[in-house]
Amino acid sequence: MTRADLTNLVARLEGQLVALRARFEAQTRSLARSCTTGSPDSGGIDADRLDRTQLPSYELAFAGAELLAAETVLRESSPASPDLAVRLAVTYAATACQSITARLDQVALDLDADTPMEPARRAELQAIYKLVLSGAALDDTGRLLNESRDEIGAVALSEDLVIAQGQFRRLATEVLAPVASRIHREDLLVPEPILQQFREMGVFGLSIPERYGGSAPDDRDDNLMMIAVTEALSEASLAAGGSLITRPEILSRALLSGGTAAQKEHWLPRIAAGEPLCAIAITEPDFGSDAAGLQLKGTRTEGGWLLNGAKTWCTFAGRAGLLMVVTRTAADRSLGHRGLSVLLVEKPAFDGHAFEFRQSGDSGQRGDSGQSGGRLTGRAIATIGYRGMHSFDLTFENFFVPDANVIGGAAGLGRGFYFTMTGMVGGRLQTAARACGVMRAALLTALRYAADRKVFNAPLGDYSLTRAKLAQMAARFAACRQLTYAVGHQVDAGGGRMEASLIKLFACRSAEWLTREALQIHGGMGYAEETAVSRYFVDARVLSIFEGAEETLAIKVVARSLFEQALKSAAAAA
Ligand SMILES: Cc1cc2nc3c(=O)[nH]c(=O)nc-3n(C[C@H](O)[C@H](O)[C@H](O)COP(=O)(O)OP(=O)(O)OC[C@H]3O[C@@H](n4cnc5c(N)ncnc54)[C@H](O)[C@@H]3O)c2cc1C
Repeated sequence: MTRADLTNLVARLEGQLVALRARFEAQTRSLARSCTTGSPDSGGIDADRLDRTQLPSYELAFAGAELLAAETVLRESSPASPDLAVRLAVTYAATACQSITARLDQVALDLDADTPMEPARRAELQAIYKLVLSGAALDDTGRLLNESRDEIGAVALSEDLVIAQGQFRRLATEVLAPVASRIHREDLLVPEPILQQFREMGVFGLSIPERYGGSAPDDRDDNLMMIAVTEALSEASLAAGGSLITRPEILSRALLSGGTAAQKEHWLPRIAAGEPLCAIAITEPDFGSDAAGLQLKGTRTEGGWLLNGAKTWCTFAGRAGLLMVVTRTAADRSLGHRGLSVLLVEKPAFDGHAFEFRQSGDSGQRGDSGQSGGRLTGRAIATIGYRGMHSFDLTFENFFVPDANVIGGAAGLGRGFYFTMTGMVGGRLQTAARACGVMRAALLTALRYAADRKVFNAPLGDYSLTRAKLAQMAARFAACRQLTYAVGHQVDAGGGRMEASLIKLFACRSAEWLTREALQIHGGMGYAEETAVSRYFVDARVLSIFEGAEETLAIKVVARSLFEQALKSAAAAA
């Protein structure tokens, strides 16, 4: 395929995406209307009605993510892009057209009216698929991928980012990668010498402004740096690398949005320095996705609060010295999410899979040292992957937290849900970057294995099916990477809330698929624990569960805000 053919395909695919977006928007308006109460264009979204349209809402959210990814890769492929980059862009965009069409056809089943694709447009799409997605075309793209030395999914980065990414990739390769497999197989904590190197490299202060000891600029967010570092470390290990950044990311954003001046001065420099390390305790045994229902009880006592109840899945809670604990401080349960506050629990750091910390003093009362005799116990949950930090069940019994450790002080009571949510946009973006790191590791491993492994007397990578698979994997990875950085730009510019959720959905699901394909290319060796790709596979599986479980994120965040936007636009146009 010549360069002119590729340029022509980009333009044809852009035309198809315009038509698909028009159908997507029409369906969004139509579903939005079915989720309102009262007059169609005036009211907001009704939760019960939204729940009755879950499947089409879920499909619509994924279609929205794929549309955005396809539009982004085509926009990013300029005349200066290498041939491989443009080929991967058209491969992903054409694959997305297939998938979006299937999703919109599914959505249409729940609508009274739809504008299905005109026959001429369907024929044009078929012609494009033949040129881009046929076995022969994908084989050609796979051949180009094998021969090319270009970075897959390259994005234009500033010089600072290129330097930082190079430094962190070296750190990941030289320091973390050699122990990553042992951490996984023996279910170890990330070793202290590695944490120390991360501290020295500023890993924990990426979202903290310079004036508080971090490396983010004082006057704006720097999500691109956070993405570049996260991606580099996640490539060596998801849980012992890139995910270490998630905790300070969420806590520091909560402090920046709601903390008092004294709390910011006190905690942010310490968090940036990685002393103490921190953990986030939101999820409870009975409340995960439904965070507004959280029950861990905070009861007023002299000078502070006594915590009683359970948290679960608190990752890194043993090693951490500071826990961000979302607590119900209002006795009136009908307040829902408005009864929640964020309390900072200080504790000693423990290694191992279980710990117990007893405060001094009589139980339920403050002793002379301002302590309560309270108890905090933790027990690590055995998991199939994501090893390196341990995720804990926690039990609080009359655990005393002073008033000074309530984020926002008295004014912060009841505002904990909002403070937590301010960290979620960055958290979702960062999770997409984690997914990109794992995908890059899996893709490069699969490419190497396909070149080395001989089957039926020829390298696996010489077979057209393998080349086609690798081409599809590379195209999907490139789309995720380009969209992650593009959304990072948007968030830095003050927008991108919805897009952060879209890329989280898309990159996490893509990582699951891509690591599965990479494992499959390894045959039996892919299933062996000693092969890194088996770790990538089990690690990737968690990405769609945390930082907004896929279904909840798709329906309650993405679809809901798509519907709200659609209703607003319809009202403005009326
Ligand atoms: C390895 C690991 C590490 C974690 N680390 C942390 C951490 O550090 N701190 C922390 O606070 N939490 C952490 N979590 C918890 C994680 O955030 C929750 O698991 C997640 O929010 C989902 O909550 P849940 O497990 O209670 O699932 P549930 O809320 O019970 O959901 C179960 C399933 O139902 C779906 N679902 C939920 N609501 C609906 C609905 N209305 N309609 C249809 N489907 C729905 C969900 O998407 C999910 O697929 C971690 C989890 C894991 C697995």
